[in-house]
Amino acid sequence: MTESCLFCKIISGEIPSERVYEDDAVYAFLDIYPASEGHTLVAPRKHFSKFTDMGAEDVAVLFEAARKVTAAVEKAFSAEGSNVGINNGEVAGQEVPHVHVHVIPRKKGDGGRGIKSIVWTEPDRTNLKEVAEKNKKKTCE
Ligand code: AMP
Ligand code: ZN
Repeated sequence: MTESCLFCKIISGEIPSERVYEDDAVYAFLDIYPASEGHTLVAPRKHFSKFTDMGAEDVAVLFEAARKVTAAVEKAFSAEGSNVGINNGEVAGQEVPHVHVHVIPRKKGDGGRGIKSIVWTEPDRTNLKEVAEKNKKKTCE
């Protein structure tokens, strides 16, 4: 628990939320400004500011809960699919620095788009081999 963290306060019950799911490691609740009906946030009980601060086990538990919540929310709202994702860091649109997975149910004709509609910087695509090499080097470090 981090004293000043909004989501730590929600998880501890100090600030009210619309709970959707909880277990020993995870707490899921409705987004107060939903992008679509049923928009749910799935957060680890432990405070991590960023996704990249987490360890393998915590990530596995978080994403299994996110999968469960996604399947349930799709059924509950008769959604045909969903966008599932994390804003990792302020530059990527993260407003609350406590890791959470957004589960946004989607329906045909809802006017929304896919994950690449978040950002499109028109990067060079003639050098994909070098980009993969650079990426691979760091990933395998
Ligand atoms: P992010 O930009 O990824 O950090 O997402 C933070 C999300 O938290 C936003 O979609 C907000 O609408 C949502 N949010 C902010 N305050 C609350 C709250 N008190 N209860 C539920 N959701 C909240
Ligand atoms: Zn927190």
